[in-house]
Amino acid sequence: MRKALKALACCLFLGTGAYADDSLLISNAVVIDGTGAATFSADLLVEDGVIKSIHAPGEGPKTASRSIDAKGRVVAPGFIDLHTHGDPVAQSFENFLAMGVTTVTLGMDGSSDSLTGGEGGLAGWKKRAGAKGLQLNVIPLSGHGTVRHLAGIPDGTRALSPAQTEALQRTLRQDLAAGSFGLSLGLEYVPGVYAETAELRALGDVITNTDAIIMSHMRSEDDADVEDAIGELVAMAPRGRVHVSHLKVVYGKGEARADGLLAFMAGKRETGTRLTADVYPYAASYTGIGILFPEWALPPTDYTALRQQRDDELLDYLGKRITRRGGPAALLFGTQPYAGQTLAEAAKAAGKPPAGFIADLGPRGGSAAHFVMDRTVVDKLLADANVALSTDGSPTMRHPRAFGTYARLIEYYVMQQNQLSLEAAIHKATGLPAQIMQLADRGVIKPGMAADLVIFTPANVRENTSYIAPHEKATGFDIVLVGGYIAYQDNKATPARAGQVLRLQ
Ligand SMILES: [Zn+2]
Repeated sequence: MRKALKALACCLFLGTGAYADDSLLISNAVVIDGTGAATFSADLLVEDGVIKSIHAPGEGPKTASRSIDAKGRVVAPGFIDLHTHGDPVAQSFENFLAMGVTTVTLGMDGSSDSLTGGEGGLAGWKKRAGAKGLQLNVIPLSGHGTVRHLAGIPDGTRALSPAQTEALQRTLRQDLAAGSFGLSLGLEYVPGVYAETAELRALGDVITNTDAIIMSHMRSEDDADVEDAIGELVAMAPRGRVHVSHLKVVYGKGEARADGLLAFMAGKRETGTRLTADVYPYAASYTGIGILFPEWALPPTDYTALRQQRDDELLDYLGKRITRRGGPAALLFGTQPYAGQTLAEAAKAAGKPPAGFIADLGPRGGSAAHFVMDRTVVDKLLADANVALSTDGSPTMRHPRAFGTYARLIEYYVMQQNQLSLEAAIHKATGLPAQIMQLADRGVIKPGMAADLVIFTPANVRENTSYIAPHEKATGFDIVLVGGYIAYQDNKATPARAGQVLRLQ
């Protein structure tokens, strides 16, 4: 029975050419085409997973084998998330479909272990994805840390030998040839934290020569360091494509701070770097508590020995860092056994000072939401013309961004705050990320583009999720189509598996 179902799913939903006469008419659509242009009314004809033609309302062909009456609802391109975690071969990405996402970018923050680091590398993962079928499209990246491991470089290594550099470049080139869009960095994490300028330049050369993209996680996102950290990325590929993931200014406050950062980035573009960024629309970050620790306490350091030898120094460092980041009430644990508790609460219940509590957990002791950003800065960055939207979420992450980002874009930024027009907001989620990733056939509604579409009434979109109940799905995105097939409807994912692993064009 299971086999039969799988075969059915395969033939109905996989091969776009399975039925030569497969066609879909979406009538009475209010089209927002993803370019930022003004809304218009139309009927859309989809054939074999591709937008075939666009007609005046009521003038679309009546011969389509399937039809959807949009009933005056918005029809926009499916949203393209520029920074995503998780593995769609092993997990359901229903929470992404629920907020209109039809393409995710994976292998971020320096780690692509499940994507390029597993059996058979990226080609092996693609084979497994093809066999299982994908709910949505995937843009694969190569994680710097994963490339480093595959090249046999031990974590703590700083200056690479010529042979190690050669192995690193060779591994990255292989990934790019297998379809990776570029290199993701995790310069605040192990092993990226050990990478020096020469290593980054060597990798940047490979990226520039293949017109691939570099996507950060930067060396630091702190107020005092963020411009230097962007400068380090730009220096990797001064004539190339450089993208700052989850752009933010930790501790930075006010409009002038955001303006200063945006002006700095505009200056880099003037010198020839194709520099872009994405933002998730929340004032808390979410990451491992390792972010609180000094580099000298991170792996491969023997943490047990370190605590015996330098405990006072460590506790002093942690105490200052916790204070600098807003105090123990500004950290909300997302992982068990403390999920839903602030550091202040958890430490108090344990009868320990916050620094001692964190030291006992250790740098790998869990993940948390960190309330370290100013809403004014977030909103100003998001409004910039070169800044797109991302979730930095996963199917399981305990941060509202993973379930709410695109609903928040519509509900909060467009409908409640009037900070963005609907057309501009949709552009940040579709046409702009497609441009950044050089996707020639997605992100815009016009003939010849893939039929990744989302149908919704803006006033009905709800974010639902919160820091306390982060796994509530968004509502209001009525129908989500991936490759011309309905992937999400009636508040649940369908069995459709029309997602594709995209290739750099
Ligand atoms: Zn990151």
